[in-house]
Amino acid sequence: MQLKMTTIALLLLYYGLNNLAIAQKHYIQCGLLIDGKGKSALKEMTIIVEENKIIGLEKGYKKGGSEDAIIDLTDKTVMPGLIDMHVHIEGETSKNRYMERFNLNEADVAFRSTIYAKRTLMAGFTTVRDLGGSGVNIAMRKAVDAGYIEGPRIYTSGKSIATTGGHADPTNGVKFDLMGDPGPKQGVINGPDEARKAVRQRYKNGADVIKITATGGVLSVAKDGQRPQFAEEEIKAIVETANDYNMITAAHAHGAEGMKRAVLAGITSIEHGTKMTEEVMDLMIEHGTYYVPTITAGKSVEELAKIPGYYPAIIVPKALEIGPMIQTTFSKAYKHGVKIAFGTDAGVFPHGENWKEFGYMVEGGMPAMEAIQSATVVAATMLQVEDKLGSIEDGKLADIVAVDGNPLKDIKVMEKIVFVMKDGKVFKNE
Ligand SMILES: [Zn+2]
Repeated sequence: MQLKMTTIALLLLYYGLNNLAIAQKHYIQCGLLIDGKGKSALKEMTIIVEENKIIGLEKGYKKGGSEDAIIDLTDKTVMPGLIDMHVHIEGETSKNRYMERFNLNEADVAFRSTIYAKRTLMAGFTTVRDLGGSGVNIAMRKAVDAGYIEGPRIYTSGKSIATTGGHADPTNGVKFDLMGDPGPKQGVINGPDEARKAVRQRYKNGADVIKITATGGVLSVAKDGQRPQFAEEEIKAIVETANDYNMITAAHAHGAEGMKRAVLAGITSIEHGTKMTEEVMDLMIEHGTYYVPTITAGKSVEELAKIPGYYPAIIVPKALEIGPMIQTTFSKAYKHGVKIAFGTDAGVFPHGENWKEFGYMVEGGMPAMEAIQSATVVAATMLQVEDKLGSIEDGKLADIVAVDGNPLKDIKVMEKIVFVMKDGKVFKNE
């Protein structure tokens, strides 16, 4: 009897261990590894991935057992999945963009955006923050999470919040009888009460973050591209309410006064920041505000504005003035010590070209390692997900990408993403 029990116990133990061993691990052998946190790249490392998590990081090229898979990236540079803090995944620039408001239904927008999401993921951006669309962006996050479509992890603002006639009032430039009077539900507010309601409505809709348009914008059908469009008390009401739901906040801003009001109200990040003054930079440092530059958007709108008829006429002078200024502001803000998180405004230019921002940042004076960190660990910290994303460490989610060549020597290689793993699943391996 005693013998029988021991045999059963041994059998159970044997099968138990065997079952555990069946779980396949990925041994990713990295020629060069930028882990997201370290000051320099590491040579000849192996990342061990089990299911969707990184469970080990070892020196040298390791293999695991016969049941494990080896991914040979020994002639590549491996990095954490890249994070873009400013995209518009629902749309993309085109000559017809302004007519699309009238002839596209939500389903049309949704089908198109699946292409943009896939392109973004294949460019190595495994996480994005979507700063404004129709609300299709919320459905898209759900579809990606559930595996219906391939795309990056999405943290979305749903529809961004504007004031009447402001940047992101969806009825700007529309003839009077079609204009209506959009309110908090449509993302247009006037006064603190409506501001609170707009935030709560977004929370209810399933948004993850809140975006406001603190000043005029380049691409809205309106005259002004930089003056403040929210009263201080309105921004305060938005930020306070967003904080209640643990949602971070972003303010689109080109002019200094709008930035100042947003920073003082406790906004998490300033987007574009075109005419940022030293006073604003000091305030941002004091308040811990991040700067998300979107240099690529500036360069793109400037170029497109030179094509006759590409934008409505009212937009052209704004694009030509504001576009070229952003890179200079970025350089000044970087030297001044403002925290910078990577963001491109993809959608204003084609999705998948997000890598261009790296080149502009390095050209603007930021070392390549810091530019990569702004798109990994810094962005993850700003999103408050640094416990699971932004670096290659034990216990983090397996979001891993690789490029040919060494981006620390030539940042342009960021264009050639050859390997993409998201959540432990390989999406690209060339
Ligand atoms: Zn934007």
